Amino acid sequence: MVCLHEIWREFGNKHLSILLLLSRMQNDVRLIRVDFSLRREVFFVVVGAVVGALIMIIPKTILEVGMGLPYYLTWIAFGHIVGIYSPASIIAGITIHILTTISIGIILGIFLYKSGILNISKLSNGLIFGLIAGSAVFIVFFIPLQQFVLVPEIVHTMSKVMFMSQQEAARHISSNFLYIVVGSAVTHLVFGVTLGIISSFLSIKFGSRYRCSIHDISFSRIDSYQKHEELVQGKTPIQQKRILILGGGFGGIEVLRQLQKAFQDDVSVDITLVSRDNFFLFTPMLPEVSSGMIETRHIVTPVRTFCNRAKFYEANIESVDLENKQVLITHAVGKETDPIAWRSHVLKYDYLVLALGGETNFFWNDSSSQVRFHDEKHR
Ligand SMILES: Cc1cc2nc3c(=O)[nH]c(=O)nc-3n(C[C@H](O)[C@H](O)[C@H](O)COP(=O)(O)OP(=O)(O)OC[C@H]3O[C@@H](n4cnc5c(N)ncnc54)[C@H](O)[C@@H]3O)c2cc1C
Repeated sequence: MVCLHEIWREFGNKHLSILLLLSRMQNDVRLIRVDFSLRREVFFVVVGAVVGALIMIIPKTILEVGMGLPYYLTWIAFGHIVGIYSPASIIAGITIHILTTISIGIILGIFLYKSGILNISKLSNGLIFGLIAGSAVFIVFFIPLQQFVLVPEIVHTMSKVMFMSQQEAARHISSNFLYIVVGSAVTHLVFGVTLGIISSFLSIKFGSRYRCSIHDISFSRIDSYQKHEELVQGKTPIQQKRILILGGGFGGIEVLRQLQKAFQDDVSVDITLVSRDNFFLFTPMLPEVSSGMIETRHIVTPVRTFCNRAKFYEANIESVDLENKQVLITHAVGKETDPIAWRSHVLKYDYLVLALGGETNFFWNDSSSQVRFHDEKHR
């Protein structure tokens, strides 16, 4: 058993920052949603819908040009519908298109969240959602709009822009009926697929967290969580590689972030962080706190907010047993000032990261003698 002060001595005792002893290694699902809100889901879907609306302009333009119509015709027709007959009708048309898309995105987002039918933090689900959404928008919204509002206005606009009679324009549209229906369906599927992929990507990256209540680990992807359940809690659990990070300061947190990024989907790696503080302190701004420019809470961040793929123990590290690859930690149960009991745990590891910071060196002067010396100098 090696005590901490021996490790300090062994690795250079005055400013030990990080010693990274690490090398790269390589159905009963409880869906627990943590840190996920209706507002966030709706926002992701709306972003996906707006991007989809912009992308769908490409097939739409190809469709119209293929029919021998000017590419701006529909936008002008949209502008005319809201009573704008100047050249600004094109801008009005595109604005209406985007506003309609945002409204559709809000409706789809609320529906997705409230119904809970599909979990879009899985890319394939996002794709399915997109295809269903694109088809629904085409059938429920676009076909009636096209039939009763858009086509009459397009005929009217064609007669003005292309100098033809309204009968000729109507004949041109009806002769291309099948082409328009198929083309519009494809256009809306492009919209839906883009919406699904973008909203799914955003959800994976910034959205949901799925916490395993047994191992206290959360995942940002539902498929990682399911893989974890299957492989770690299944009938024949896999032997995980355990990485133990000691210290929640600059070193420890940065190592944690990088490891989580590298092993986000690799559930065969178990990451644990231990620190006596449950917060990360941004020391460079400590002087601003002492001079009253900012508050203490502005420079502390809870360690748990960094642990989206790791366990966290708020505990003291008592000793490290390098031989047996285990660390003894203790934590108070109850109030820290008046602990009811101290509990100790042994954490086993395969790879150890030491990031316990450094000790201030007063060069054998204790702090009180330094104050005296300072005072004497100024006397
Ligand atoms: C006022 C001030 C201003 C600074 N400004 C700058 C700057 O502008 N730029 C710069 O580069 N550096 C600056 N530094 C230095 C910088 O803060 C340190 O270099 C950095 O914090 C070292 O990071 P670390 O992870 O090694 O250790 P630390 O950040 O000290 O983290 C160590 C962690 O380990 C935990 N720990 C230690 N022992 C135990 C134990 N036995 N059990 C459980 N947990 C334990 C601690 O609670 C802590 O969370 C400043 C320091 C101070 C004090």
